[in-house]
Amino acid sequence: MGNRRSFLRKTIVGSIAAGIGVNLGQAAELFDAHTLSAEGGPLFISTWNHGLAANAEAWKTLEAGGSILDAVEAGVKIPEADPEVSSVGYGGFPDAEGHVTLDACIMGPDGNAGSVTYLQEIMHPISVARRVMEKTPHVILSGAGALKFAEDQGFKRENLLTDNMQKEWEAWKASGARYAPQANWENHDTIGMIGIDGQGNIAGACTTSGMAFKHPGRVGDSPIIGAGLFVDNEIGAATSTGEGEAILKTLGSFLVVENMRNGMSPKQACKAAIERLTQKVRVHPQMQIAYIAVNKSGQTGAFSLRPGFQYAIHSYNNNKLENVDHLMEW
Ligand code: ASP
Repeated sequence: MGNRRSFLRKTIVGSIAAGIGVNLGQAAELFDAHTLSAEGGPLFISTWNHGLAANAEAWKTLEAGGSILDAVEAGVKIPEADPEVSSVGYGGFPDAEGHVTLDACIMGPDGNAGSVTYLQEIMHPISVARRVMEKTPHVILSGAGALKFAEDQGFKRENLLTDNMQKEWEAWKASGARYAPQANWENHDTIGMIGIDGQGNIAGACTTSGMAFKHPGRVGDSPIIGAGLFVDNEIGAATSTGEGEAILKTLGSFLVVENMRNGMSPKQACKAAIERLTQKVRVHPQMQIAYIAVNKSGQTGAFSLRPGFQYAIHSYNNNKLENVDHLMEW
């Protein structure tokens, strides 16, 4: 219903602009339902520049009558299937043994959540996470069990290691290098997306292939509710990117939402969570962390540990990348 209402609102805006004589009382009733973006409409925000295409798809899905949950799922499926995005889904960097292993989670306005960790050979882990949420009494399925569940649900097994990534992995192995975090890597890492519809219903999705050449079995923050993503439909939502271990130790996305609950703006809330992290976790020279957040009024904000992070914001007729303030220099 939220979508119908928001798009009704859009239609009325259009009608007013076109001078078609819409009754003002009727328009006011629709407008005061919820104050969202400055442009007065639904809103999507996503991490990194691959967030632009993801936002556009989410918007299209909402506009076509999908729910806010459908929209965030559809949005993050774009980088999941894109072989050029080397940090999410198909075409992602493999682990130290050459396997692409995926982490994803999704959370809806009703507070329900689903997640998969260490999932292999499935193109869209976010859709499996949604099935975990909707078809099981559980929140997280992992590894072989997650794969079995996905197959039972009709998902096809596919090879996710592209030729390019096979070469990268062989070169990495041949170099004798050990795993090390790489920040702002190709300027696009995990995709975390938050969407808010015309009635203020909030949903989020987060999906990643994790750190390049990670130890087999490693699970990051992205599929962990409260770390990589958290939604509280009464307050707002947050999602993260960067070195998952530090985010996990501070339950970063939950902390951002709690900061908003205590009165901070989304940007202040993200900044305070980054500051907390620097007090609690050893910050090494390669570490990058970033949070993005939306509150119930549709205000957005973000903050990163170090320079280089951007996030994509989609409101009416406008899908743009925004630079984000940071706490310290490299
Ligand atoms: N947060 C992700 C992880 O630790 C990686 C990233 O966003 O760069 O798996």
